[in-house]
Amino acid sequence: MTVIKDRNIYEKISKEDVLKKLTEIFEGKNVTNKSGDLYPYSYDMTECEPHTPDFVVIPENTSQLIELVKFCNSNLIPIVPYISGNNVGGLTIPEKGGILVDFGKKMNKILHVDDNMMYALLEPGVTFGQLKKHLDENYPHLRYSYPFAPPYAGVVGNVLLSGMNNLSCKIGSMGDSINGLEVITADGEIARIGSCFYGKDEAAPDSWWCRYPMPDLMGVFINWQGMTGLVTKCAVQLWPNPPIKKTYLALVFGLTDVAPVMREVGRTDIIDDISAVSIEVVKMAVELPIPTKFSGEPDFASMFSISAKTKNQFNAKEEILFNEVENLNKQGKNVILVNADEFVKLFNLRVRCYLDLPSVVLPLVEYSGLTWFGSYAPSHKLEELIEKVNKLFNKHNITPFIYMKMMKSGHYAIFRPIMRYNKFKEGEEERYHMLLEEITDVCIDLGCIPYKTPAWMTEKIRKKINPGWINLFEKIKKCMDPNNIFNPGRWNT
Ligand SMILES: Cc1cc2nc3c(=O)[nH]c(=O)nc-3n(C[C@H](O)[C@H](O)[C@H](O)COP(=O)(O)OP(=O)(O)OC[C@H]3O[C@@H](n4cnc5c(N)ncnc54)[C@H](O)[C@@H]3O)c2cc1C
Repeated sequence: MTVIKDRNIYEKISKEDVLKKLTEIFEGKNVTNKSGDLYPYSYDMTECEPHTPDFVVIPENTSQLIELVKFCNSNLIPIVPYISGNNVGGLTIPEKGGILVDFGKKMNKILHVDDNMMYALLEPGVTFGQLKKHLDENYPHLRYSYPFAPPYAGVVGNVLLSGMNNLSCKIGSMGDSINGLEVITADGEIARIGSCFYGKDEAAPDSWWCRYPMPDLMGVFINWQGMTGLVTKCAVQLWPNPPIKKTYLALVFGLTDVAPVMREVGRTDIIDDISAVSIEVVKMAVELPIPTKFSGEPDFASMFSISAKTKNQFNAKEEILFNEVENLNKQGKNVILVNADEFVKLFNLRVRCYLDLPSVVLPLVEYSGLTWFGSYAPSHKLEELIEKVNKLFNKHNITPFIYMKMMKSGHYAIFRPIMRYNKFKEGEEERYHMLLEEITDVCIDLGCIPYKTPAWMTEKIRKKINPGWINLFEKIKKCMDPNNIFNPGRWNT
């Protein structure tokens, strides 16, 4: 493992001189080192150790960022990019201090929507809510794929981390939906990845339509959780927005039977999104004060979203879904399928949030603390994962909150045990962290690959990864970031 020894980052240049230079780059405004301004950037919802940045800057344009990267690279000062800090993995906590670059405030423009080739060109700070509003008002025939994250979380942060959203059963990981990137590399050079690579200085707005067939350098920049370059523009795919949409809620009895139900329905190839949550989560969502599962109740609720261009197409899709559920019931599963809209009317209209993303999904954010083991998972191991993780929740006397998704028509799955807790209650973080560590060990043993990983988690997976992979990873990271200034500490760099 590369262990970068903790260094005094102001060995080469004093803090006063750094402030002077930052004030010059950002023209006297949008730079701060006041403790009150720095504090909100020192922690997130997770139990990851807080650490305060030394400076926060709010960039307005790429030229400022080029100067910043050159300056930090020659003075060995860490840079941590930030959009809204909603990654739920401690990824924007500046573990080694340095300069936090807040993209959310001013570099948040939707630069172009290409109606023909169906993509949006974004600055890093654009939020889900902003993109949805822009599309609904100007391009209602196009849609994006949204996570359960709040509307104020960022689109670009989500794709760079391979998020999984509400079209994922159709399109897979959000990392696949990036058409192009503009990135500042450690030497301060601008590189454009994808079909936008034509053109010396600027790329035409209509040139960000694809990332193939040249060597796919996108992989050099995405999924690093830390980073290998500072992204300044990102083009993401949009999708046709069909007029007919309906979500079904499947109540599944039997702890692990939700796994074959999700797999088989995923394979029908007609569903936009399949997600499933422990029944306790449904109870949280309808605001029952004690969300306990009682004997005889279903174990999981799964949501299947269908969309169609015409009534006939919709009826055909619905028929395929009904047949599949009937087959599953004939095979001895116990699945009750209900129209999610009717369920919502009966129980709690606020549950409509789940159907109309992006929204603030209350069970996820109503506590001050939120943490999880979020992972890409082998779908044939879901039964074992559910069983073992459910036992761990019960062992720790913590309400089970398992969230799953079926990706790309069932090629792989998402397995995410979630914990909400009170950050400010004595001993709570430690108690929840202990459960999270145990869950992590079980899930990694079963082949799950965590995303948005705090450093303690990557340390665990590094021990299991093929050494050739680790060596290659370290060579590339070193080549892209020789002075280890780009969000150091992530992936234990
Ligand atoms: C309640 C809740 C529910 C969620 N549900 C889901 C879900 O269902 N599916 C899902 O996929 N995600 C989910 N998330 C996570 C969330 O969608 C994403 O991680 C998020 O959109 C990115 O958050 P952000 O914009 O705040 O980015 P930040 O957290 O600020 O940054 C994300 C990462 O990107 C890096 N970064 C930021 N800007 C740049 C840049 N310009 N160049 C290089 N690197 C950069 C940061 O350093 C960090 O590593 C959820 C989060 C919450 C709080």
